[in-house]
Amino acid sequence: MSSIGKNYNRMLRAAIAYVEKLNWAVLPLHSVINGSCTCGKKDCTSAGKHPIGEIVPNGVKDATKDISKVKEWWLKKPWANIGIATGKISGFFVLDVDGEIGKEELRALEVEYDKLPDTVEQLTGSGGKHILFKYPENIVIQNKVGFIPKVDIRGDGGYIVVAPSIHKSGNQYMWEAFSHPLEVEIAEPPKWLIDMIAEKPSTPDGKRPPEWWRKLAQGVPEGYRNMSAASLMGLLLRKRINPVLATMLVIAWNREFNKPPMDDKEVIRICESIAKREVQRLKEGMK
Ligand SMILES: [Zn+2]
Repeated sequence: MSSIGKNYNRMLRAAIAYVEKLNWAVLPLHSVINGSCTCGKKDCTSAGKHPIGEIVPNGVKDATKDISKVKEWWLKKPWANIGIATGKISGFFVLDVDGEIGKEELRALEVEYDKLPDTVEQLTGSGGKHILFKYPENIVIQNKVGFIPKVDIRGDGGYIVVAPSIHKSGNQYMWEAFSHPLEVEIAEPPKWLIDMIAEKPSTPDGKRPPEWWRKLAQGVPEGYRNMSAASLMGLLLRKRINPVLATMLVIAWNREFNKPPMDDKEVIRICESIAKREVQRLKEGMK
């Protein structure tokens, strides 16, 4: 095979390896040739990163582990960048860290909680990185934009661009040395991270992650105020704070931090109903 031929098959071979060796679901993405996105739009805002609509009309939903499809796709578009569907389908989720600010934010989080374990990592071509973690059992991880500044979560329904795809900067995506998915196992995510990002129903015993309370303390948007006031009241009561004082604290929190604040009457109504529920819970606990 000529060197051109070899190069021509490079993306196809990589795509097949991701499916066969790692059981990841792949999809073809546009690439960047001479600085422009292959979609042909002059100022494409997602250059080299978006699915090739004519062969995967449903985007990431069309991602596959079927080798014959992979071959068909990359024979049609041999230059196509490689996307991997994240989440349960491929068995991992990703911390997508954008540039130096993202890295700094993540370091701050590690200082506050704990260091992230060694795992599979990719350099993204823009100076950021992708950090992969095993998809946990019985928990749903969805996409989250900016779970901390400049750090996104790619879970169910998301995808990442992987090596040897071409970034719009002209750089290639590259697996970090000593963090290659064919050589290193993807690590289990630490519990504190799961607590922060997992989609789960609110727990009846009110055990919420510290991050959740920190956000609540800064005020919550309309639509979350009722639920947040109820949680706060529940917390205060479980800390054995007198219901009248607890209600006053929730009113003060609402007035000071929620934009716009709820009506005091509404806050009182919520607090009363939580207080009733809490009394009921205590009674039942004593039976
Ligand atoms: Zn494009």
